[in-house]
Amino acid sequence: MSVFMSPRFDSLEEYVPGEQPQDKKYIKLNTNESPYPPSPAVISAVNTAEVEKLNLYPDPDCRALTAAIAKRSGVRPENIFVSNGSDDILNFCFMAFCDGKTPAAFPDITYGFYEVYARLYGLDYEKIPLRADFTLNVDDYCGLGRTIVIANPNAQTGIAVSAPEIERIIKSNPGNVVVIDEAYVEFGAESCAPLTAKYKNLLVCRTFSKSHSLAGARLGYAIADAGLIADLNKIKYSTNPYNINRLSQLAGAAAMADDAYYSARCRAIADTREYFKRELRARGFEVTDSAANFVLARTDRISGERLYTELKAAGVLIRHFSDERIADYNRITIGTKEQMDALLSAADAVLEGRK
Ligand SMILES: *Cc1c(COP(=O)(O)O)cnc(C)c1O
Repeated sequence: MSVFMSPRFDSLEEYVPGEQPQDKKYIKLNTNESPYPPSPAVISAVNTAEVEKLNLYPDPDCRALTAAIAKRSGVRPENIFVSNGSDDILNFCFMAFCDGKTPAAFPDITYGFYEVYARLYGLDYEKIPLRADFTLNVDDYCGLGRTIVIANPNAQTGIAVSAPEIERIIKSNPGNVVVIDEAYVEFGAESCAPLTAKYKNLLVCRTFSKSHSLAGARLGYAIADAGLIADLNKIKYSTNPYNINRLSQLAGAAAMADDAYYSARCRAIADTREYFKRELRARGFEVTDSAANFVLARTDRISGERLYTELKAAGVLIRHFSDERIADYNRITIGTKEQMDALLSAADAVLEGRK
């Protein structure tokens, strides 16, 4: 830090993204990207004619993209907010809906960015422990009186809570915003988006990064009552109104219109996930019952950290976290079946001492 940085950031610890190595080609199963390319419709939408217009600002209201998302989600455009990755929406939520009177609450094991944002804004926050088996106790959140942020399925574990259970949380906290981060919902969990018609305090956050093969385009969206969407717009227009570039706006609209392509890819990933869970369990791993495009796994046969290191040396990248409760685990993204088989043979070589 330079001498010029405000001391209020002295104790801020930044979010550490998963490795994006440029040195060699890995089988990359560490940041929950899709192994599949964007749909052909997306590739033709991002065309030379649009590149030639990059001298002009994009539409700050993202009208075509917003309309495409609203149509697919069965809501009105005023119920949609589009952002530069869903990280932006989460950032805005901590900025807009938490303060000295309204602290934040989220599970102890979840997406690491929630705590970073809470600290960035100097908020009080409570990390509510998941049960020993990493399931979330809904009663912990009922009538809590805080701004609640829950990833569903949860990050790092992939475990999902049903929509009626989430509804109990929303209903019992009518004076507080409940943010449901559905980054992984399309791989097999139940969405709370339909509940936004009923509850003014519910904000559902989605991303194109995982299910829609567009992590590189940086696109996320929120679905909520028009009041909460107006709040997010107020923050956006006070920080960076042109935050979605022209090419990403076109890519996102084309992706939303090609449901057949993406549903088939998400189903393939979910099938591969179930296959991979069985294979890991057959090798003596404990594996979370994930509904997402990753699993969290450990085994007594080797420490989580060592498995991560050995697989990296073998050209397979997975994610190891040092948080105490999951330090012996690894989070493994579900890629293609071929990629999972390559991981399994590399892991077998390590576990059987052939490496
Ligand atoms: C990946 C992820 C995000 C961020 O997605 P972007 O749209 O790429 O910013 C948000 N929440 C969770 C739980 C995630 O895993």
